[in-house]
Amino acid sequence: MHIADQTVVSIQYTLKNGSGEILDQADKEHPLQYLHGAGNLIPGVEKALLGSEEGATMEVVIPPEEAYGGRDEGLVIEVPRSELPEGEIQVGMQFQVQHGEGVGIVTVTGLEGDSVTLDGNHPLAGETLHFDLQVLGVRAATAEELEHGHVHGPGGHAH
Ligand code: ZN
Repeated sequence: MHIADQTVVSIQYTLKNGSGEILDQADKEHPLQYLHGAGNLIPGVEKALLGSEEGATMEVVIPPEEAYGGRDEGLVIEVPRSELPEGEIQVGMQFQVQHGEGVGIVTVTGLEGDSVTLDGNHPLAGETLHFDLQVLGVRAATAEELEHGHVHGPGGHAH
């Protein structure tokens, strides 16, 4: 079976940034399963996998536009320490923030005196991603999976 919209694909992968650092991975024992064509994965990965079959391996380099987008320096702000929750604040910590109707994630990228720098960009925004991929399996999605827009595990799930 070839990977196409409405198939459930199981992959193992290693994700590295431009300097060769491993950012994320999934192996045979804990593969990533996703519903193709439902926007579950970044566009560059779906595009690379489209049409492949079980056993296919590939190395893909994905520019930011087909991954997590470019960085927006307007999303980097400084706030006084007092606007953040109590407790220790460290570089690398993430907070949920309310803006308008939505909820976003910000990462602490700097601390100076009473001032905290928060970055609302996705941590991988602006990064060119290097994927080593292997297709472990392809099957047709069930009607329920198509309705929900995501994969259900062997035991189904509760929503
Ligand atoms: Zn579901």
